[in-house]
Amino acid sequence: MAGRDSRPRPPARARSRPVQPRRHLIAPEGDDRIPLLLATRNPGKVREFEALIDRRVFRMLEPEVIEGLGHPVEDGRTFADNARKKALFYSRLVDCLVLADDSGLVVDALGGEPGVRSARLGGPHATDEDRIRLILRRMEHVPWERRTARFVCVLAVARRGRILEAFEGTVEGRIALEAAGAEGFGYDPIFYHPPMDRTFAEMLPVEKHRVSHRGQALERAVGWLTETFGGGAGRRGPSDG
Ligand code: IMP
Repeated sequence: MAGRDSRPRPPARARSRPVQPRRHLIAPEGDDRIPLLLATRNPGKVREFEALIDRRVFRMLEPEVIEGLGHPVEDGRTFADNARKKALFYSRLVDCLVLADDSGLVVDALGGEPGVRSARLGGPHATDEDRIRLILRRMEHVPWERRTARFVCVLAVARRGRILEAFEGTVEGRIALEAAGAEGFGYDPIFYHPPMDRTFAEMLPVEKHRVSHRGQALERAVGWLTETFGGGAGRRGPSDG
């Protein structure tokens, strides 16, 4: 409708939450680090981000900040759509840079499944082990040469209801014949990485980060954030003058 602001708004309940947006921008005097909120509740992702993000450059807001803010609807058809939805959702509720991750496993022999449904495969009560069993069962008769798959990660950066940038990372591999390894999270035990001749769950975290979809996307995101907001500009930003 002409003249009407049709941008989606956060639900009233979320808007009136006691999380005071401005509070998060107040940095100790002389702290020029870039304030950043990781918009994820996934403990596996949080662990990986925390290992990869340099605290000397970024002032990470506690992940608990997003507790009680509600959940974005992840109904996008692509990882990029969902990463943007998550980043926008939280950036309307918290006044700082928001980094959101949408990622998943794309299996060629399953027509790209589970893809954007990676976290939801098997229903709301399924565990990582259940999801792994499901994939292995569906792949039972698929020969090695047709077991190609990739992990994809899209990171979106938003602030105050606006997407600033998005970064993608992809890593190619195969669905292993059986689960192996205890590191990592999610589908790592069945994601076999040919150059390292191991599954992601058999790699040390630092080895996985070097080649992973998230490691690649984050390297790009961190480079851009540092270039754009480094040197104390994190509290203003590119378009704030
Ligand atoms: P979402 O991005 O929160 O929708 O969830 C992504 C889902 O994809 C996770 O819950 C995992 O099941 C899977 N996933 C994404 N990245 C990884 C990874 O690095 N290792 C294993 N599984 C992953």
